[in-house]
Amino acid sequence: MFSRPFPTVLKVAATGFLAALLYAGVISPFRLLNNPILKTQDFLFSMRYLLPYHPPILEDIFLIAVDDESIHEIKEKWPFHRRIYADLLQKLTSAGARLVALDFVFAGKSEPLDDFLLAEAVQKAGHVVLAAFVDAQGNYVLSLKEIREGAVGSGVVNKLLDDDLYVRRVRLVYKDNDGEIAAWPWEIEILKELQGLKLDKLHISPEGLHYESDSEDAGRFFIPFRDHKNTAINFKLKLKDIQQVPLWKVMQEEDLGETMKGKIVLSGSTSRGLHDYYHTPLGVMPGVVVNLNWLVNMATRDFLRNIPFVLNLLFVTFFAMSGSFLGLRFDVMKGTAGLFCVSVAGGAMSFGLFCLNYTGDFFTPFLALWLTFLSVTLYRYFYTLVENVRLRGEVVTDPLTGLYNRRFLESRIDAEFARLVVERRSRKMDAYHELSVLMMDIDNFKHVNDTYGHQFGDDVIKNVSFCIRESVRKDDIAARYGGEEFCVVLIHTRKEEAVQIAEKIRKSVESKKFNYVNQITHFTISAGVASARIDNLLSSRAIIKAADEALYEAKRTGKNRVCQFVNKTP
Ligand code: GH3
Ligand code: MG
Ligand code: MG
Repeated sequence: MFSRPFPTVLKVAATGFLAALLYAGVISPFRLLNNPILKTQDFLFSMRYLLPYHPPILEDIFLIAVDDESIHEIKEKWPFHRRIYADLLQKLTSAGARLVALDFVFAGKSEPLDDFLLAEAVQKAGHVVLAAFVDAQGNYVLSLKEIREGAVGSGVVNKLLDDDLYVRRVRLVYKDNDGEIAAWPWEIEILKELQGLKLDKLHISPEGLHYESDSEDAGRFFIPFRDHKNTAINFKLKLKDIQQVPLWKVMQEEDLGETMKGKIVLSGSTSRGLHDYYHTPLGVMPGVVVNLNWLVNMATRDFLRNIPFVLNLLFVTFFAMSGSFLGLRFDVMKGTAGLFCVSVAGGAMSFGLFCLNYTGDFFTPFLALWLTFLSVTLYRYFYTLVENVRLRGEVVTDPLTGLYNRRFLESRIDAEFARLVVERRSRKMDAYHELSVLMMDIDNFKHVNDTYGHQFGDDVIKNVSFCIRESVRKDDIAARYGGEEFCVVLIHTRKEEAVQIAEKIRKSVESKKFNYVNQITHFTISAGVASARIDNLLSSRAIIKAADEALYEAKRTGKNRVCQFVNKTP
């Protein structure tokens, strides 16, 4: 793990490769991030909505809304009597409307006079498009035959709901059980009247709907599928963007004058109470406004298309690589700044593509960017942490024995003495707050290297260090003080106890067998003991010197023994 690190280029390439694999193999086929991807697109819709949008066709469209006011003012229960629509059609016809599209389905019979009046009005008006819908069982529900006969078309107004119940797509064609085309959407029926679209010139391919004709109005166009049979609605309009008048006002007016002359008049409900409301990328809107969006898309040939999958894959790979590069090459501050720059540039690019009517996965590349950066940064942080701990261990320990080294021991004794002085001043010092030091040296070690070799000498030193480690507590500081000299600082240990510990170590070393080429040898140590309080030694220097003196005494009086320091100065 801590061996020579890979070059950054390789790591960045590996991240890109992994991200591409994950995206193409798991995320995309299983549509794992479908929801956030759609929400990101919704966000782009609402951002684009801030840009001005005034297609000329909007001047020609008028909405007659069955709004809350109309429900209130027209003193009838919903659904209204059909004679009201007959009245409406009459008024619009005499006002010179070019086309009337009703987002209502007059299914089944109502009062015979009403049905008759409406059928007559539809017939007289000449340019009426009616609505139809597909029920839950897949049956087509159309307006009453007599009424339908006078109309120029009946189109389906069903809404296609995504998993989150948002309307983002529209079905382009409705087929029956035999796979024959059974109906077209309402908007296509309107376009048929408006632009002379010929339904038999519409051809469906796996890519979308093609139209080719010699007629000047419709010409040729292509509507790309977003998925099988369905295409994305290019939402650009909200209810407030449309010229509109409530139904009750139209009904009150004796003469509509010039307002409706040559207009395409749509009529539908915008009252919340009638439950024809849908969630869309531009917020909640009435069904007829969803229809209007799609109608304007079709009339102006303004369709959203998916960017190719390969391009999305490339974005994800590139963004993942950028994240890992920023994480590996820069510190957190600079890396985060870089991350924001890449995000802003990527966001601008996504928005630009979207404004050019290209949509796709504008979420995963950013996720890849931030996730790789975060992972790399966390990895680096963790790596540094582990490395620091390791280096600190190297600084304080002796590599041969694993005991502390002399420098660390000295700094620790200083710290212990500083604490002792504080405790002494605050009169807390009792028997418990004693501190003792052992100084030990292997006896007659000089010739070991000459006799058995340096390697064996090292082994002996290691084994002696085991004996020491075994005999002291975890809080005590055992160190290799010099070549074959050891020092132990025993915290909270009185002199008698320290002598006992020294004896224990001495015996442990004495009993250890060393095998050199089938020849058993033994080694011994000598030890000196000094204690801070009882020997009145109040500095690290003094106590080590005293323990050393005691050790010298042990050597002098025969070795393989423990001697205590005796303070001769009163
Ligand atoms: P004494 O009983 O009085 O201590 O006699 P001694 O021979 O042990 O004398 P001294 O303590 O001065 O011996 C030091 C010798 O220890 C010198 C060197 O040959 C050996 N020595 C010191 N450090 C190492 C080491 O790291 N590895 C090995 N193999 N030998 C060492
Ligand atoms: Mg020695
Ligand atoms: Mg020595």
